[in-house]
Amino acid sequence: MEKERIVGIDLGTTKSVISIMEGSKPEVITNAEGERVTPSVVSFTEQSERLVGTLAKRRAVTHPEQTISEIKRKMGTDYRVQIKTEQGLKQYSPEEISSMILSKLKKDAEDKLGFKIKKAVITVPAYFNQQQRQATKDAGKIAGLEVERIINEPTAASLAYGLDKQKDQTILVYDLGGGTFDVSILDIGEGVFEVVATSGDTFLGGKDYDQRVVDWLAQEFKDESGIDLTKDLAALQRLKEAAETAKKELSYKQETVINLPYIAADAKGPKHLERKLSKTKFIALTDDFSKRTMQIVEQALRDAKLTPKDIDQVVMVGGSTRMPRIQELVTEIFPAKINKEINPDEVVSLGAAIQGAVLAGEVDQIVLLDVTPLTLSIETLGGIATPIIDRNTTVPCEKTKTFTTAEDGQTQVDIHITQGERKLTRDNKSLGRFQLTGIAPAPRGIPQVDVSFSIDADGILHVTAKDKATGKSASIVIKEQSRLGDEELKRMQQDAERYADEDKKRVEEIETRNQADQLVYQMEKTLREIGEKVNASLRDKVQSKVSALKEKLQSNASAAEIRQAMEDLKQASLEIGQQMYQQPEQSTTGAGPDASSPQSESKTDGKSEYIDAEYEKKEK
Ligand code: AMP
Repeated sequence: MEKERIVGIDLGTTKSVISIMEGSKPEVITNAEGERVTPSVVSFTEQSERLVGTLAKRRAVTHPEQTISEIKRKMGTDYRVQIKTEQGLKQYSPEEISSMILSKLKKDAEDKLGFKIKKAVITVPAYFNQQQRQATKDAGKIAGLEVERIINEPTAASLAYGLDKQKDQTILVYDLGGGTFDVSILDIGEGVFEVVATSGDTFLGGKDYDQRVVDWLAQEFKDESGIDLTKDLAALQRLKEAAETAKKELSYKQETVINLPYIAADAKGPKHLERKLSKTKFIALTDDFSKRTMQIVEQALRDAKLTPKDIDQVVMVGGSTRMPRIQELVTEIFPAKINKEINPDEVVSLGAAIQGAVLAGEVDQIVLLDVTPLTLSIETLGGIATPIIDRNTTVPCEKTKTFTTAEDGQTQVDIHITQGERKLTRDNKSLGRFQLTGIAPAPRGIPQVDVSFSIDADGILHVTAKDKATGKSASIVIKEQSRLGDEELKRMQQDAERYADEDKKRVEEIETRNQADQLVYQMEKTLREIGEKVNASLRDKVQSKVSALKEKLQSNASAAEIRQAMEDLKQASLEIGQQMYQQPEQSTTGAGPDASSPQSESKTDGKSEYIDAEYEKKEK
């Protein structure tokens, strides 16, 4: 009896595919309807019976309110599907709806294969955040599957592609599916796949192209008849299907006719919609999308510090890459490098099946390395996001940095974890926060708190903070994150570039304030410690400079003004050392100011960063 084989599942926005390794080759398992691809659509009948796949997709026209498509876009959010039943309104989470799709794939595959499937590898877009990955895992669990591994779709594609190739090469995976766009650059050689960069847009796919055609058709129809088809769910669904069909036809034709009889009716009788759509018009309607994908490709190249010349092959994934305009744009940048051997609809699932076979021990000599799509940071003083794990770091990975308190006698620290490329915490996505309490009271700068970030093979983040002195620790697993949509994530990516200069300036300002605060603290301590060792007039002079700097810090002074006040204070404080060296008998006492001399302060100042309003950071 066959046992513990691991299937590969591409759980897509518009369609899903399940595969398994047969001997040395991955193969797609057809569903009960005999199709290789199952639409990711779920529909509920009045009796709460549920349909999945093609049958559900057909019902989208007749029962749009009872039918759910594109649930993948809602994964990891609070969104709830509301379905009217005889017993009243029923709610489903995105995980539950996804689990229904997975259940069908599982059951149909079991019938076909003749044995039970318990384990799976499921793919997600490279841009899925922690919460979306966790939601995908949960969907598997609800469907009765142990999800052995979550892998990125482009990585899976490259796995399918690279299995037989031995020569070292760098490939770029261009994946434009129904709802998401991903680019990954991978180094492949000797059975090792290393993702060196990823970029993408979780809100760009074939559906957006369809929508442009729908909008155009609806507008034309409204101009002509005065009827707004977008208000009628059934008509809208027909428009969407017609738009998608037209789009696909334009992949091999110059012109197509969209014909929708009886699409609406008014007092004068039924209305029909008939429109010609040329390839040129279609490109005009959608070219901003196509061009945007190329900008994202360029971003990935920049992240990998590569030029198009460095790419040996381009692998096209996702049904939308069949559009000639996409192939044209990709060819412009990468002449003669496009690889079209692989069926773009199946390649991801096939790659997942290969990974499944590796995990099951059926295939060896493949090591899979993925990368983090966004920088993971903690908040430091003044709201600065201090990176712990940089964007595009290979996972699984673990990084530790040591921080210390910034207040005397402080016994707890607040660890605030964020994700994103911006320099300030408030502009990034908050993933979670927790406190470490019970730190032994000590002067600021003395306690040492290790903050460790570790990302496991599924891309799930574990954060631990540990006080070195007491051994006390606290930790968090990032599953439940504050809710931020894909749109927001996309915006964050774009903002990071747009505001790079502004952010840098703001960070410099905050750092200047932090340094000034540290200088005030040190100088006040020095003044207390030197006591009578310098004359009163010098003590007063330094004290007045300290007060002036404190005043600047409390007011809304600019960074330049604060820097000037710091400089004044440092100059004045130099005289302390001079006077003390003129009194050799006193310099030998234990109360000497060396440890807190202005020179050593400014050195520390230059390096200091702080966890937040309360803490100071020290590099390990
Ligand atoms: P995927 O999620 O990878 O299956 O991609 C599905 C998307 O590819 C859908 O938006 C389809 O409309 C689109 N698609 C499939 N075939 C074609 C084609 N021949 N031309 C243009 N788009 C296509």
